[in-house]
Amino acid sequence: MDRETPKNNFLRDIVAADVEAGTYDGRVVTRFPPEPNGYPHIGHAQSICLNFGLAEQFGGATNLRYDDTNPEAESQEFADALLDAVRWLGFEPAEVRYASDYFEQFYAWAQGLVRKGLAYVDSQSDEEIRQTRGTVTEAGTPSPYRDRSVEENLRLLEEMKRGEHPDGAHVLRAKVDPGPGDDWPVMGHPNMKLRDPLMYRIRRDAHHYRRGDEWAIYPLYDWAHGQGDAIEGITHSICTLEFDVNRPLYDWYLDAIGVEEPRNHQHEFARFNLDYTVMSKRKLRQLVEGGHVSGWDDPRMPTIAGLRRRGVRPEALRRFFADLGVTKVNGSVEIQQLEYALRDDLNHVARRVMAVTDPVKLTIEGVDGTTEVDAPYWPHDVTPPASAPESRTLPLSAAVWIERDDFSDDPPKGWKRLAPGVAVRLRHGPVVECLGAERDEAGEITHIHARLTEDAKPTGVIHWVDAEQGLPASFRMYDRLFSVPDPAGADDFLSTLNPDSLVEKTGYVEPSVADDPPDTRYQFERIGYFWRDPEDSLPGALVFNRIVALRDSWAKKEEPAAPASAPEPKEPAAPAGPRDPASALSDKERETYSALVVRGVGEEEAAVLAADPTLRSLFESVLTASGKPREAGALVVHDLRRALGDRDLSDSKAEADQLAAVLGLVDDGTLTRNAAGEAVAALVEEGGTAEAAVERRGLAAVRSADALTPAVDAALADNPDEVARYRAGEERLFGFFVGQVMRRAGKGADPRAVQELLRQRLAG
Ligand code: ATP
Ligand code: MG
Repeated sequence: MDRETPKNNFLRDIVAADVEAGTYDGRVVTRFPPEPNGYPHIGHAQSICLNFGLAEQFGGATNLRYDDTNPEAESQEFADALLDAVRWLGFEPAEVRYASDYFEQFYAWAQGLVRKGLAYVDSQSDEEIRQTRGTVTEAGTPSPYRDRSVEENLRLLEEMKRGEHPDGAHVLRAKVDPGPGDDWPVMGHPNMKLRDPLMYRIRRDAHHYRRGDEWAIYPLYDWAHGQGDAIEGITHSICTLEFDVNRPLYDWYLDAIGVEEPRNHQHEFARFNLDYTVMSKRKLRQLVEGGHVSGWDDPRMPTIAGLRRRGVRPEALRRFFADLGVTKVNGSVEIQQLEYALRDDLNHVARRVMAVTDPVKLTIEGVDGTTEVDAPYWPHDVTPPASAPESRTLPLSAAVWIERDDFSDDPPKGWKRLAPGVAVRLRHGPVVECLGAERDEAGEITHIHARLTEDAKPTGVIHWVDAEQGLPASFRMYDRLFSVPDPAGADDFLSTLNPDSLVEKTGYVEPSVADDPPDTRYQFERIGYFWRDPEDSLPGALVFNRIVALRDSWAKKEEPAAPASAPEPKEPAAPAGPRDPASALSDKERETYSALVVRGVGEEEAAVLAADPTLRSLFESVLTASGKPREAGALVVHDLRRALGDRDLSDSKAEADQLAAVLGLVDDGTLTRNAAGEAVAALVEEGGTAEAAVERRGLAAVRSADALTPAVDAALADNPDEVARYRAGEERLFGFFVGQVMRRAGKGADPRAVQELLRQRLAG
């Protein structure tokens, strides 16, 4: 099975079952049905990969259908951008269709419904219609126009179509009477979508980008979608989860117009959400129109055009969505999951070259004229693309550019870069020993001096660019567009824009890049993955976009300040980031590992699961039941394995859905995360339900002050000296007290409640 074949994909199973059963004589026809009211975003990319991918897998076909039934905000520019995005992702529509071409057919069908008594013209206002729909618990009120004669309905509908009535004067509604055996009143359908839904509304003065002013009425989504699917012979009509309540209406309309089985069916999956971004086209349009970004293709935008301009490869997105799979549970994908996938893709195709983004000059005594050094493009553990060159030669003269922060005249302990008296290797080049630096009046370092040395042992390796032949370049360091995980949830999402989402730097890049094809991807060693901006980069003025940083720089920011990691002194030192938990895995296992990380499992946990198919299969069951990849991974890899000790997984009595239930109990606060491990241990030993295990072992979270006070009092009474010191200002003792209380209060104690109570008590 190739990497891009979807794995965790229940839709594939549905299609496979239909093919197997011969439901459509083996035919599989899907469609991607966007509204051309904006540029497509990464959520659309998932839908594209899914629809085209499924059809491809079963030898079927996929149409691009513009769902252009709403004249407002649609345009040819957006329609073009959609087709462009589909093609860039590597797919070709079997046919390009427009719902607006079906207006005549939809209208004829509507007349048919009127004749059958299944639709009527309602002359109530929008407001009246809304108010008479009822509520989930109460039936609505039938419209006074509900029993208009067929003739009158046909006449009014025709007049609406010809533009003889103003907007809002009338609508056409389906008449969904309770059928035989239904025990609800008129306008009392338990599914509100079926309480005489609107089919047409008047938009007399709106101009449609394709149909011009021909039409004065426009069909609503539900009255267009299934019919469009039927016209095109679609078999599987895939849409996002929020449309599951529309499915009965989808089927009702098909019944009403007389489409018989085997016919198109709707299937829903959970839409793709990504944190630190917004996804609705309306919000994306606000960003563009408000000038907050440079356009729809600004590399910070989650649009396909933006990702493309940033340098993301279509292969990376296809693989990302195949690895991610689809589910029926709405959730949000962490941006690290996407960034991981981008790095995983670029790692195999990006040449390792050198650029300096914050340059300061280093002169080297002992270098005469210009020498050349041979420099391989690829580290040992990467198999480069077949046609890729292996190496280049680099000029090295007596002056090179290095990064300003690769020098310190007051280095911290463990410093592996330049400092007076310290020797480092210039990547691919000689070892130099630092002699010192010159400063200007303001104290800024202007120049660093070094000399060639043969005897000093290098402490590290730094990258450099020859000062004579290096090419000036600017570097666009892109970061998250928003500074909060859920900008759409903020009152004003524009106020959560990240002010540092673009930092532009100027420096130098090695001369070898001058003649590379424009789409070459690079890893600028120790800096990140880049490519040339396709619009702004010119031969004499190179502009590089950072596609993704080397490792998650945001996660690092949250860690306590550690000395920046420098590469190992060995040659060739692939600049190493933090330890790679997958280093011991086989190639096959590594693929599994990558897919798990992409789906949100922690790296350490993914490495364990990748190497252990039995454990992984249990994990998959826990994930399906819980919808929480990170938590399910941690529970299975840490808590469950700890509970098992040396025993085999087959000795465990824990059911997967009960392990998932433990996560649910943590989520709703019944169980603290600390106590979850104990609950897992109880399930392993005794089986049964998670609730029963919590009950038996008395693990339920303890939060009430009454219950926690004895432990707090005891902890304070036993440590009078520490209490005095804390009160005298030694605040770092707080953690000590928390530990003391937790030990006395037992596993169920909620750390947050403990902290709160302690704070009060210690205050005096
Ligand atoms: P938006 O609200 O962002 O404009 P939309 O759903 O209105 O999105 P459409 O143009 O109607 O956009 O969507 C075209 C197709 O793409 C639909 O089949 C829709 O289900 C799918 N799609 C849209 N957003 C996502 C998403 N976030 N994840 C997966 N599929 C999506
Ligand atoms: Mg839409």
